Amino acid sequence: MHATFPLLEKTDFPPIKRAKLEILQINVGYYCNLSCTHCHVNAGPKRTEMMDEKTADKVLEFLEASDVHTLDLTGGAPELNPQFRKLVEGGRSKGVRVIDRCNLTVLEEPGQEDLAQYLADNQVDIVASLPCYLEDNVNKQRGKGVFDGSIRGLHKLNALGYGKENSNLRLDLVFNPQGPVLPPPQQQLEDDYRQFLGEQFGIEFHGLLTLTNLPIQRFGSMLISKGQFHPYMDLLKSAYRPENLFSVMCKNTISIDYDGFVYDCDFNQMLAMPMGRNRLKRTHIDELMQRELEGLPIAIGDHCYGCTAGQGSSCGGALS
Ligand code: SF4
Ligand code: SF4
Repeated sequence: MHATFPLLEKTDFPPIKRAKLEILQINVGYYCNLSCTHCHVNAGPKRTEMMDEKTADKVLEFLEASDVHTLDLTGGAPELNPQFRKLVEGGRSKGVRVIDRCNLTVLEEPGQEDLAQYLADNQVDIVASLPCYLEDNVNKQRGKGVFDGSIRGLHKLNALGYGKENSNLRLDLVFNPQGPVLPPPQQQLEDDYRQFLGEQFGIEFHGLLTLTNLPIQRFGSMLISKGQFHPYMDLLKSAYRPENLFSVMCKNTISIDYDGFVYDCDFNQMLAMPMGRNRLKRTHIDELMQRELEGLPIAIGDHCYGCTAGQGSSCGGALS
């Protein structure tokens, strides 16, 4: 069990229910070429959990049978999973939007020399993490040399047309704070990113998504070890905005793990909290075909306050 789970389980977060399912977020595994301090997955080069072909086929079967409009691929570094390209091509052939949550440095990993071109050829939208536009901050959070690797990755993507005005190759960047604070206003920070990255490196991108760090996995453990867990929870709760409840991402998204089990969101996946309120019963993607999800209660915990604090936070950035 994860260190912060017992601290999050008992909650006064308001009950929420599912709306129509629109987005399938697949965590293809926890292997990653990086090992960032803020990672809510605890991903890294030593993780071995990986989606196999049988489970990837189940995902595509479900996609075929449902009217989901977006397939959102995450990890770890999703591109390093052998099933990644099968899922991309399966999703694109069904006409759904495919998103790759890319850490940028993966574009330089051995064997991935063709990755950027592959993503462009398949019209995959890229959501790329760049937690700051300043080199020191990025390297502190993600490791030495990661900032330079990320800039080279962005140049490669821009050269293919990603992030350019009027291009349909969508490139969004992701910001998350360095420590236990809320992200600054999204639009203002996007303007700062655009100005700095444009002037210093000639980099273009479409949008910036600001994400709040949730107190789980590596970030949660760091909070506990520094005695910051409770103050951070107090901050999230004091910034609660009820209007964000209507657009938290679990309303229209489900999260599938590398083994095909279903969660209300990727954070709940990391806390091993299965979809719905029954903590003891896991649902497999196989069983989803027969189930109506709309109206089902969502599994909540105190970490949910991270999604509703301030301007709100989701895989699509701020909520309000
Ligand atoms: S935050 Fe992203 S890039 Fe960093 S270790 Fe986690 S999955 Fe990998
Ligand atoms: S953490 Fe956020 S997305 Fe996940 S169940 Fe809670 S409110 Fe929903």
